[in-house]
Amino acid sequence: GGLEGVKDISRIKSAELYEKAKTFFPGGVNSPVRAFKSVYGTPLFIQKGNGSHIWDADGNEFIDYCGSWGPLILGHNHPSVRNKVIEVMQNGMSFGAPTALENELAELILTNNRFIEKIRFVSSGTEAVMSAIRLARGYTKRDKILKFEGCYHGHVDAMLVKAGSGLVTFGETSSAGIPKAFADETIVIALNDKDALLKAFEEFKDQIAAIIIEPVPANNGLLLQEPEFLQFLREQCTANGTLLIFDEVISGFRVGFEGAAGYYGIQPDIITYGKIIGGGMPVGAYGASAAIMSNISPDGPVYQAGTLSGNPVAMGAGIAQLTELLQPGFYEELDRKTAAFVKDIEDYVAAKGYELKIFRIGSIFWFAFTQQEHIRRADEIDAGSMAHFKIFHRELLNRGVYVGPSGYEVGFVSGVHTADDLEQTKKAIFDSLDVVY
Ligand code: PLP
Repeated sequence: GGLEGVKDISRIKSAELYEKAKTFFPGGVNSPVRAFKSVYGTPLFIQKGNGSHIWDADGNEFIDYCGSWGPLILGHNHPSVRNKVIEVMQNGMSFGAPTALENELAELILTNNRFIEKIRFVSSGTEAVMSAIRLARGYTKRDKILKFEGCYHGHVDAMLVKAGSGLVTFGETSSAGIPKAFADETIVIALNDKDALLKAFEEFKDQIAAIIIEPVPANNGLLLQEPEFLQFLREQCTANGTLLIFDEVISGFRVGFEGAAGYYGIQPDIITYGKIIGGGMPVGAYGASAAIMSNISPDGPVYQAGTLSGNPVAMGAGIAQLTELLQPGFYEELDRKTAAFVKDIEDYVAAKGYELKIFRIGSIFWFAFTQQEHIRRADEIDAGSMAHFKIFHRELLNRGVYVGPSGYEVGFVSGVHTADDLEQTKKAIFDSLDVVY
């Protein structure tokens, strides 16, 4: 430890753009975490991306591990995706009528995924979750939803609720503007807590429409669950007539083509997708058995629609990206290179005796400034450790490595990160850690 920080990168252009943006947008951004509130300095305005690299408005170049928060598993501006988008655009951008491209993307997914029989495309992960919850309520004719503290499911009213004290609590909302009556329909418990789950089923017998979980919780650190806990959820849902929703907006097509359902071999009742499915374009989706999906309009009574749902350009991007992911060995190689990358950092950390644990599943990783062997619940994260992340983040940027601007966010390795990229990144990480400690 004890290394001095290097000179800060120039953020002159980014600062100018940010000042202007603040006159247009609340907080100067169109999604809050982009405002760099919990890290050092002005947010970087990105000008272009190519492969594993991005460039900001000041011309700084970075190796990127944010990947637009997960969608870019093939890196930036992948030629297959770009070419397909351009090809589709030659014929127009949107019709609000069915196109063959929707069939093509659906067929690609459904023939390679054993866990859903029918799918519906929407335009974001939030929309997918919102629709899945309505479907679960419509199908079960029950109102309550159980979620876990530390799982993020988008900005849907019912999901912006967190736990208060006690084992099972009605949530306290995490946002203004959510009617208490809505929050009262959401039960929040801790992850990895079987007793709380049993208690909830007892207290709200025959009232819980669905349990929703990120099977790979990756929005509040990486709170990897024991497979046995996920299996317990499956059994309890079945026993109680409750649907199990896997929110796979991050894990879908990331920990394998069949996402976490395939990874753990667990059959949920409804799965939501987003991010990777759209190849960088705004796409979300939800899928289930044909029987459950028959409840969606126009076949059934659960209404859900969208002007831009199944947008042809977005479908094209999804088709191109998912086709690449189906190449034999894609996920094995991604897993192998991420494992080796993480192992080298762990060896360095061990040699130096630093208090740092790296959690990983497939190509998703999270740096926790702790010595805890496992972190499975949101309340096991030491908020004080985020002070370390703040320094780490600045040092990484100064050394040409871009990660999301919050210590609670995970990083993603893509299929196009080269051995050189990873070597350079490791060096930057070692030096940055030497500054932190
Ligand atoms: N669900 C999960 C697990 C997510 O990670 C996210 C976004 O980060 C969402 C839902 C919401 O998706 P979107 O931001 O596309 O609305």
